[in-house]
Amino acid sequence: MSQTLLSVIVPAYNEEEAIEEFHRRLAPVLAALDCDAEIVFVNDGSSDATLDILHRLSEEDSRVTVLNLSRNFGKERAMSAGLDYAHGDAVAVIDADLQDPPEVIPELVAGWREGYDVVYAQRTRRHGESWFKRATAGAFYRVIQQLSRVHIPHDTGDFRLLSRRAVDALKQLREQHRFMKGLFSWVGFPQKPVRYERDPRHAGQTKWNYWKLWNFALDGLTAFSNVPLKIASYLGGLVAMLALTYGGWVIIKTLLFGEPVQGYPSMMVAILFLGGVQLIFIGVMGEYLGRMFDETKNRPLYFVQEYRPAQTVRPRLQHGATGKHRTSDGS
Ligand code: UDP
Ligand code: MG
Repeated sequence: MSQTLLSVIVPAYNEEEAIEEFHRRLAPVLAALDCDAEIVFVNDGSSDATLDILHRLSEEDSRVTVLNLSRNFGKERAMSAGLDYAHGDAVAVIDADLQDPPEVIPELVAGWREGYDVVYAQRTRRHGESWFKRATAGAFYRVIQQLSRVHIPHDTGDFRLLSRRAVDALKQLREQHRFMKGLFSWVGFPQKPVRYERDPRHAGQTKWNYWKLWNFALDGLTAFSNVPLKIASYLGGLVAMLALTYGGWVIIKTLLFGEPVQGYPSMMVAILFLGGVQLIFIGVMGEYLGRMFDETKNRPLYFVQEYRPAQTVRPRLQHGATGKHRTSDGS
């Protein structure tokens, strides 16, 4: 009972085709580790048979916890729910679609035993992803690296292992727009990469499309950088200075030489350019304002419809060995 406990958090949204195979591959990996394990499947409002399969798995395997959210909240919040309800001394996060090979987990655990608080899996290769997705992902990581003071490692997803104190730190970050890759880094503590090859999806389909990815990138940028707002101020300042200089010149020119009506093209160019720049930065400000609006509402991150703790953690729940789980609003 006093053995160390490893919690594995698996967010799952419509994964009926992959989840059983995932469990089949994860089970022996956990069995080979010399610690207790809990598999926290977070059903993120699936509309297919995922939940039924999870219920069955929880009957067959005493390590399986089922956390059923009241609707689809998105992967970032599903992961947060898992972190709130995990009891492990170490907590791993892994996708249900077998893109993150469970066989890497022992290496993550080894890193944790060495004393690292965050051991993240870094992909050496991504199988089954288009060049366009790789290129845009690469560009995004370069940009966010430049714009943000937190170091967000490139080629790294959410697949990683966290120590108890890193999890406890993360649980205090209750922001609505959760760019978890950034938050994982933001908490600090000793962090270490482990390299692996990312496999293609086992079955089913990715929940991402480019519009969602774009919005996700915006969440990441706005949550970790004010640089877009600063660009607005500096560009505004620069344009104002140029306008002032040009205005002075126009006045002097008119006083000296008079002004036959002229200059329609230059006026149009100036108006359209300034109008465009203003609209863009009203948009940028809007992005931040909208996020502030969401934060001020201060809503809970998710609601739990059902919590079926694994048999392996039930004694801990009664004795409160690893601390009680948090309510959905983290209080
Ligand atoms: N996921 C989730 N909620 C969502 C979307 C996805 O819990 O709203 C889970 C999904 O079941 C999978 C993981 O997040 O376990 C990664 O999703 P996906 O494979 O679609 O993303 P990708 O690997 O393409 O980035
Ligand atoms: Mg995937």
